[in-house]
Amino acid sequence: METHSRIYVAGHTGLVGSSIVRELRKRGHSNVILRTHPELDLRDQSATQLFFEGARPEYVFLAAAKVGGIQANNTYRGEFLFDNLAIQMNVIESARRVDVKKLVFLGSSCIYPKECPQPIREDYLLTGPLEATNEPYAIAKIAGLKMCEAYRSQYGFQAISVMPTNLYGPGDSFDLQNGHVLPSLIRKFHEAKVNGSSEVVIWGSGRPRREFLYSEDLADAVVFLMNVYDGDQHLNVGTGEDITIADLAKLVGEVVGYSGKTVMNDSKPDGVFRKQLDVSKLKALGWQAKTSLREGIVQTYESFLTSNQ
Ligand code: GDP
Repeated sequence: METHSRIYVAGHTGLVGSSIVRELRKRGHSNVILRTHPELDLRDQSATQLFFEGARPEYVFLAAAKVGGIQANNTYRGEFLFDNLAIQMNVIESARRVDVKKLVFLGSSCIYPKECPQPIREDYLLTGPLEATNEPYAIAKIAGLKMCEAYRSQYGFQAISVMPTNLYGPGDSFDLQNGHVLPSLIRKFHEAKVNGSSEVVIWGSGRPRREFLYSEDLADAVVFLMNVYDGDQHLNVGTGEDITIADLAKLVGEVVGYSGKTVMNDSKPDGVFRKQLDVSKLKALGWQAKTSLREGIVQTYESFLTSNQ
């Protein structure tokens, strides 16, 4: 990408898209094209095609998606499938039709089978059944990466796919019902501290392990890959380290400064037991995460405090 290239970031108000926009601006890209959801509904095929014909982007970051935590994925199963399939299908096809030079598709580590050898290599895709709680989302994301592969092969369209591990960072959704674990724990511990509550309730058994990548690190990786990678195979993006939910809760409690106890609510699902990504392909290309989990939680808590005022 040149500094003056026309770059469309789809989903720029979300956690991933907003980080990509900041990263592009930091690198001097001055021609970043953005549309809010009310301005352009990417589920609408003709509106999306019209937008691409008018804006004529040269590069596209496809970070628009319907996302949420374990409960949202499991509750809005139809919407997670429909919205994500529609967004991907419309953006990738429109991008191809107007001869976009390159597109990066953002997926998720939940595309991998529920019982995968760990750490998870890219080629474990489609080797077994998926985790039930987020199967619709995973199926949509698998379709997206296969669409990129198919468009590369049939049309020579330069589309690459990036599969990040669990993400968190400034501007995340701190919603207690529909958010992901890390922002939800920040809100729970903060509110317990402020209200003087004696305990905080954590979902599930606390035993599942998750790998957390700071959204600003992901944005750095994604822009890096747009510039250097053009392979058929999707790439994992993560830190290479994971932590149990119980230990994560301890860490968030420390950062927030909460001194009460935590209790587990076993009636909530655990989801997949472990999904640690093998990031050796990305490392071999020369990229590595920079932000420690503690530092990332400190930054995210600060953004929560600012947005909560
Ligand atoms: P997942 O990685 O797709 O399963 O999505 P989440 O980030 O929503 O959940 C990760 C793990 O954290 C699951 O085992 C949840 O049961 C557990 N967890 C513990 N407390 C919470 C909470 O307050 N909110 C959420 N979303 N998950 C929680």
